[in-house]
Amino acid sequence: MATESGRPEAESHARALAPYAPGLSIAEIREKYGHEEVIKLASNENPLGASPLAQEAIKRHAAEAFRYPQGGNPALAAAIAVMHGVVPERVVLGNGSDELIDLIIRIMTVPGRHNMLCFRPCFGIYPVQAALNHVEIRRQPLGENFAHDFTGLLALANADTRLVFITAPDNPSGYCPALPELQAFAEKISQIAPKALLVIDEAYMDFTDDEAAHSLLANGILPENTAFLRTFSKSWGLAGLRVGYAVLPERLAAALWKSRLPFSVNILAEAGALAAMQDDFFRQKCLATVREGRQWLTEELRKLGCRVWPSQANFIMFRLPEDSLPADEFFERLLAAGIIIRQLKSYDLPDNLRVSVGNPAENRKFIAAMKKILQGAKA
Ligand SMILES: *Cc1c(COP(=O)(O)O)cnc(C)c1O
Repeated sequence: MATESGRPEAESHARALAPYAPGLSIAEIREKYGHEEVIKLASNENPLGASPLAQEAIKRHAAEAFRYPQGGNPALAAAIAVMHGVVPERVVLGNGSDELIDLIIRIMTVPGRHNMLCFRPCFGIYPVQAALNHVEIRRQPLGENFAHDFTGLLALANADTRLVFITAPDNPSGYCPALPELQAFAEKISQIAPKALLVIDEAYMDFTDDEAAHSLLANGILPENTAFLRTFSKSWGLAGLRVGYAVLPERLAAALWKSRLPFSVNILAEAGALAAMQDDFFRQKCLATVREGRQWLTEELRKLGCRVWPSQANFIMFRLPEDSLPADEFFERLLAAGIIIRQLKSYDLPDNLRVSVGNPAENRKFIAAMKKILQGAKA
């Protein structure tokens, strides 16, 4: 199809999309500043890397790269089902949970007719995929200290609401609502919008101090209107392989499988994820490293005069002391020192910054660089 100007163009809704702003890569910064060592604390990746067992499995399966994966990745789906104590018919795998977010929007909504709810700010993929799918999005501002305003969210719902996205713990604040709040919301939204699916994105749930105090899934509470998203990208250390999954009611899982491209989780990703699940020693070490590092960074940032929001995730959102530099200038100074953190302009929080919890050496170097820049700014 040609437009009036006589050449192919993407439709206006696609041209108008705000591009997803990923964290800067190590290669970009190494090239720009010529650093030997660059520390990336921008994308909430695992501070201890990928499990050694996963790495071995990927090498072992390398020769199978010419094969298509088995349709539906049944071995991985079965292992995930066992881990969560659910039937495998509830589990759908995706090329990262990003793929599943897009598919859920597509199977749950009719463009131009249905609406979808989420908070403001929220994870950028929800509104972008909603726009691409022509779905009206209604957004409730977060409450004080970035708490989830469930009453406000409910007030936006009507009979045409088909989806509600909630991130718990939330990105970028680290806030995590309590289990009873989530359970009450699932119940109330089912009354106002009986056909709406509540999607609780639990990408960071395993980093909480007490999963049972926050996760319906961890408690085996599976409301008929609720789906859960989890990912191998964060605590499992496999972001580059792209594996995520949803746990959802069986009839929706069946629809999701049918709409997914057949081979979106590749053979090496499947082997890596299965092996990572065998490596409990490594995983426990990762979770402990994140919880300890989170505590330490919170205290150190506060000692430097920063405002720090309490986090249940593997990242921390903070604001610089009043008398220091603007956040974007500070961010650039950190880059020049070889440390990449995350600006939050794309979340409409230009004064806030987000740092992923690294390993102890990375955390120390980050705090040391902060101190140096803050002192320089005062001098
Ligand atoms: C990182 C993240 C994900 C995971 O995305 P993948 O596509 O699985 O890598 C999902 N939701 C949120 C809120 C995230 O921050």
